Amino acid sequence: MKIHHLNCGCMCPAGGALYDGFSRGLKAKLICHCLLIETDRDGLVLVDTGFGHKDMQAPATTLSPFFRAINNIQRNRSLTALSQIQALGFDAADVRHIILTHLDFDHAGGISDFPHARVHLMEEEINTARQRHSWLTTQRYRPAQWGGISGWQGYQATGEKWFGFDAVNQLNGLPPEILMIPLAGHTTGHAGIAIRTASGWTLHGGDAWFFRGEMHQAQRHCTPGLRFYQWFMAQDNKARRLNQQKLRALSCTHTEGLTLFCSHDALEFERVAATKP
Ligand SMILES: [Zn+2]
Repeated sequence: MKIHHLNCGCMCPAGGALYDGFSRGLKAKLICHCLLIETDRDGLVLVDTGFGHKDMQAPATTLSPFFRAINNIQRNRSLTALSQIQALGFDAADVRHIILTHLDFDHAGGISDFPHARVHLMEEEINTARQRHSWLTTQRYRPAQWGGISGWQGYQATGEKWFGFDAVNQLNGLPPEILMIPLAGHTTGHAGIAIRTASGWTLHGGDAWFFRGEMHQAQRHCTPGLRFYQWFMAQDNKARRLNQQKLRALSCTHTEGLTLFCSHDALEFERVAATKP
């Protein structure tokens, strides 16, 4: 298996370093960390999709005015997973599977660019996204991005644990090295995606944390902007805090053989993407 790290979106909310901890100007830089996995027998697998071509061409038809404004979502078609996959010499039809950490607008936008892919996610996430029972869920879950998709594959946690976390051990049609790790909190059906590689485990933690200082040290460090955003977006804040604490403890005790990263930290992305597998 070969893993590519792709940044499939850019958001520049007002707040600068109060959000991302490094920008010097008024605007922060948040990215959409996705993975493209070349498998031996099961084609290409995308982990999260960032923003898609429709979001870039006609954002008013897919994204909520609220999140377009507060996240200052940038329009850059070359960042989409489809454009980057084509630049690598592949075709949209080569993507056979999409695994989602959750269905928020900044993770699900690219789904419709890959009509041949089966979409894997937690059952709970599909149900919550379809119900859209509150104002916030109508803003974050955007059926215009994925409403026409039929190839859903929903899961519940079963089987062996992964470092003490519940896990989905066998995803339909995918190699056994790829697991889904339910990490409820940001959304109730949120999950991390764990991949066993020759050099150890890789965990795409999705939105289970937002800032690099929230891992790899006993004391949590997070900017005020991202503290607020995580609290505001959480469907279950208690579960979010608990899962983040467990991940922090794991990152401190397993400094070898475990690479973990979240979706939106630009510096974390640069560090991880530069590491040779
Ligand atoms: Zn997100």
